[in-house]
Amino acid sequence: PEDIVRVTGLSTRYFTEQGQVNAVDDLDLRIERGEVFGIVGESGSGKSVTARSIMDLIDSPGEIVDGTIEFNDADLADRVREDHPEAVDGNFVDLQAIPERIRRSLRGTSFSMIFQDPESSFNPSLTVGEQLAEAVEVQRRASANPRSTRSRTESSEYSLGNFVLSTVLPSQKYVTEESRERAVELLELVGIPDPVERADEYPHEYSGGMLQRAMIAQALAGEPDVLIADEPTTALDVTIQAQVLDLLDELQEETGMTILLITHNLGVIARMCDRVGVMYAGEIVERGTLEDVFDDHVHPYTEGLLGSIPDLEDAGGRLEPIPGNVPSLLDHEMGDRCHFADRCPKAMEDCLEHPPEYDADGSEYHAARCVLAETAYQESRALPDGYFGEDE
Ligand code: SF4
Ligand code: MG
Repeated sequence: PEDIVRVTGLSTRYFTEQGQVNAVDDLDLRIERGEVFGIVGESGSGKSVTARSIMDLIDSPGEIVDGTIEFNDADLADRVREDHPEAVDGNFVDLQAIPERIRRSLRGTSFSMIFQDPESSFNPSLTVGEQLAEAVEVQRRASANPRSTRSRTESSEYSLGNFVLSTVLPSQKYVTEESRERAVELLELVGIPDPVERADEYPHEYSGGMLQRAMIAQALAGEPDVLIADEPTTALDVTIQAQVLDLLDELQEETGMTILLITHNLGVIARMCDRVGVMYAGEIVERGTLEDVFDDHVHPYTEGLLGSIPDLEDAGGRLEPIPGNVPSLLDHEMGDRCHFADRCPKAMEDCLEHPPEYDADGSEYHAARCVLAETAYQESRALPDGYFGEDE
């Protein structure tokens, strides 16, 4: 399968009074069409900032200062090729190189995000059905007329989840019967019982798990190609968590959409993902298939992460902290060395002199950012077939 998203050298910084925070630092990422790609890491490792960078949701004092985020979409490439030839490479479009107006129009229709906190995606004074119908409407207008998307900065508009909505509500005035029916269909799709009745209820009448489902429905309103789910189940109890993951699984199979799943939970990764990137201190330190990362990892951080969990199932997949603190991401404290050096049991002189490059093992995708990676790959290749006594 082809790549749908390619992130290269992405750096997102926050300019604070304490100094420059390197929240995402020279990050590379490739996501294939139709896969579930996981990003796993401790809190503060830059997972959410990565997701928000892809969604173009970085607000001041944050800023994407370097790198490219490319999206593989033939229609978009055709739309921008003439005016912005430098942004287009085949069907890949560099989202940083096209006007903000066009980039924003992709939100909800090409990329949608499910946020950690569903309440933040709903207006408490409107029914869930009204809001879903309006989301459907916004997407319809945007895809019917992509070149003349309304100005997104009118003061009568506000941002809600993936959408910029109008405050000139009640939205009934603007929402067609068709959109309202679609809203009910979406509620049904995400497994809300009695969707016709529930559509007329307000967000506070929904339980946490139901509101999470409604938010997934909202994210699906524009039939996105890529769904980004940022800790989609953290706020939910274990049973509901499992149900929401099942739902994402089903939706992915039905629609074939690509999912970028962000979590601190290795159990969720093992259950949901095809490939995974392990994130630490603003960078992906190791990436590969589940097998590469769970069984054949070469980065000491991945080792620590997995080693801290004797049994994935028993531990509920929770990450136990590795000794030492997550480093400050302040630029002047990070220095020019491996970000993991302070906590790494294998650190040596070399690691303090410069940050290690990505080192791929020659397979498709497995790579790690560690000076020891090369030797580790060689050692694992040096083992003859049947070394462990298995007859093939
Ligand atoms: Fe540890 Fe050095 Fe590898 Fe960093 S580069 S993870 S400090 S061995
Ligand atoms: Mg986060």
